[in-house]
Amino acid sequence: MPAMETRERALGDRLAQFGVNRRTFLKYCATLTAVLALPARFTERVARALESVEKPSIIWLEFQDCAGDTESFLRSRNPGVGDLILDLLSVDYHETIMAAAGFQAEAAKEATIAKGGYIVVVEGSVPMGDGGVYCTIGGKTAIQILEEAAVGAAAIINVGTCSAYGGLPKAAPNPTRAVGVASVVSGVPIINLPGCPANADNITATLVHYLTFGSLPATDSKGRPLFAYGTRIHDACERRAHFDAGQFVLEWGDAGHKRGWCLYKMGCKGPSTFHNCPIIRWNEATSWPVGSGHGCVGCSEPDFWDTMTDFYVRLPKVTGFGAEATADKIGLGIAAATAVGFGAHGIAKAIQRRAGLGSEGPAPGSMEDDTDGSE
Ligand code: SF4
Ligand code: SF4
Repeated sequence: MPAMETRERALGDRLAQFGVNRRTFLKYCATLTAVLALPARFTERVARALESVEKPSIIWLEFQDCAGDTESFLRSRNPGVGDLILDLLSVDYHETIMAAAGFQAEAAKEATIAKGGYIVVVEGSVPMGDGGVYCTIGGKTAIQILEEAAVGAAAIINVGTCSAYGGLPKAAPNPTRAVGVASVVSGVPIINLPGCPANADNITATLVHYLTFGSLPATDSKGRPLFAYGTRIHDACERRAHFDAGQFVLEWGDAGHKRGWCLYKMGCKGPSTFHNCPIIRWNEATSWPVGSGHGCVGCSEPDFWDTMTDFYVRLPKVTGFGAEATADKIGLGIAAATAVGFGAHGIAKAIQRRAGLGSEGPAPGSMEDDTDGSE
């Protein structure tokens, strides 16, 4: 029997075992296709790829991290189908979740490296200071481990801001001289999925893109996939109409806060942050920080944290926005930007529709939830 048929039957068996019927599986594929900003007609291709692909080997390395990205990845949108997608990967080395330890664990990594063609997922920054002594595993520094793993890798996926750009460990005064992965290795395709943590849907969608098309998705100049980081938070935010109308929260719990008004004057960094949080949301797409009443802290931008703190103060020189004056002299003069915002809002609705979330009504504190929008 051809290998592909065996694979399809095996997948079908697992679908049944997980209590997931084919309709639900296709719906999940449709959601991933939408997250990838691909036309709906690619859904079948994504499904076929997942049904037929050979299990790619994954080496998941953790350096200066909190394991938050692992936690995020283990909590996918739909546990049944998410487990299935995980089952399509051969995670040969992952310190946090693997049963093996010590020499056994290192041997598993070395055997995978010897085979070549694996994907390396990196979580956490790499300390360069003092020869790398601030992060050693199995007697090797993070620098050595990363360099060894990169040699035969098909691709490196950096999950979280720390492995992408250095993140929290890199915050001034950066005592360990922490850096992101691309500052240590080169010559292999590298993609960054920054965020604190990275969103599980974006990690899954990136892996699914690789499995479907055999390559990583297109990126911006900061190495981030455009499907996830091509839109500014501010342009897809459900509170945007309040920004444009000059309706701002001025104090936690004030009347504007209760009505879901804009959080810019409470320190929201959405105007200078590129991420699809308002579109795909978090916690099984139920909400996201701004939807829950807290400003975006800009966790997915390079040089987070230094450039984004104090979290609760407007930054006078927010890059890519320059709207301090605009926010103070607010009016109706930002029609073009608003149109962009409505465009992104449309994408969000499309994803929510394909995920079957469209009938749930407005998110708490959302623009739709604000009935009159005035004082
Ligand atoms: S809450 Fe933040 S992201 Fe949303 S409109 Fe206001 S400033 Fe922009
Ligand atoms: S809303 Fe902002 S701070 Fe929150 S996860 Fe998204 S990018 Fe990070």
